[in-house]
Amino acid sequence: MADKILLEHGDGGLLTNRLITETFLPLLKNDVLERMDDSAVLKSPGAWLCFTTDSYVVQPCFFPGGDIGSLAVHGTVNDLAVCGGTPLHLSAALIIEEGFAMDDLRVIIASMAEAARSAGVGIVTGDTKVVPRGAADGIFITTAGIGAVSYSGTISAESVRPGDAVILNGPIGNHGAAILSKRENLQFSSDIRSDSAPLNGLVNEILAACPRIHCMRDATRGGLGAVLAEIAHQSGLRLTVSEKSIPVDEAVRGACEILGLDPLFLANEGKMAVFCPADDAGAVLAAMQSHEYGRAAAVIGHVAASERGCFVMDTVIGGQREIDLPSGELVPRIC
Ligand code: MG
Repeated sequence: MADKILLEHGDGGLLTNRLITETFLPLLKNDVLERMDDSAVLKSPGAWLCFTTDSYVVQPCFFPGGDIGSLAVHGTVNDLAVCGGTPLHLSAALIIEEGFAMDDLRVIIASMAEAARSAGVGIVTGDTKVVPRGAADGIFITTAGIGAVSYSGTISAESVRPGDAVILNGPIGNHGAAILSKRENLQFSSDIRSDSAPLNGLVNEILAACPRIHCMRDATRGGLGAVLAEIAHQSGLRLTVSEKSIPVDEAVRGACEILGLDPLFLANEGKMAVFCPADDAGAVLAAMQSHEYGRAAAVIGHVAASERGCFVMDTVIGGQREIDLPSGELVPRIC
């Protein structure tokens, strides 16, 4: 373990995973946290709740398809939704650097309000701190959210079973490519927009279509690759995905080639992987494709029994490669 925090401790790859499992989990030990799902699903008298929190430090804070405000709401709404929760209430804590433009702040807050309205939630509590120039970079936002869980099944990586189908709701890499294109000032890719969106409506349709959803996870930092590798390891099963079945927009593919990046590991803010029994895959796929955030949904793989958890890709050139959690520097401050 490094004696100082490195940028890679925040990139969603191997060092992030080690920081969580070796430093945070042993100290903060509790059954709920240790499940390491997107939300904590909690029992309260009369109802199951889910509860989650995330910090947003995206740079630049305005980007094609959104800004740090909409991102902070969508991210937390989505972490509740993929645990089967109906998002109810959010909190927002802001850390703002002295000198940040008031007009920009108003745009960001308005964007949070609009995102919350469209997801049907309220930001019910918040906090603001301002730090001296140089002590933060622009604005950082932490949101937390509470949702009510009424789905009867347990939606968790632990519930994934051999025979499950893996379904993705649309093309990957758009958020990461939008941020990087803006950062690198790539002119040709000006039509790449972040996919940042609230997924709770889509999740409602999925849950209504299938009473046996085993796991859902939004593929944010670290991309679809990191999420599938995580679920393979947590479930102890073999996850095989067909590379050619994963949709990638042409503009995103082009930007990735220029930047030397793999869309599999680029961040998304409106994409999720769904695990359900193969018999239910048709119904789930149809429900997803009839929703605006699932039009390009596709079955991308399947789960099999295994002696150890592993994520294997059938590549477009006909080979197979095992994919592990990404390590080394990915892309800092992508969300
Ligand atoms: Mg998540």
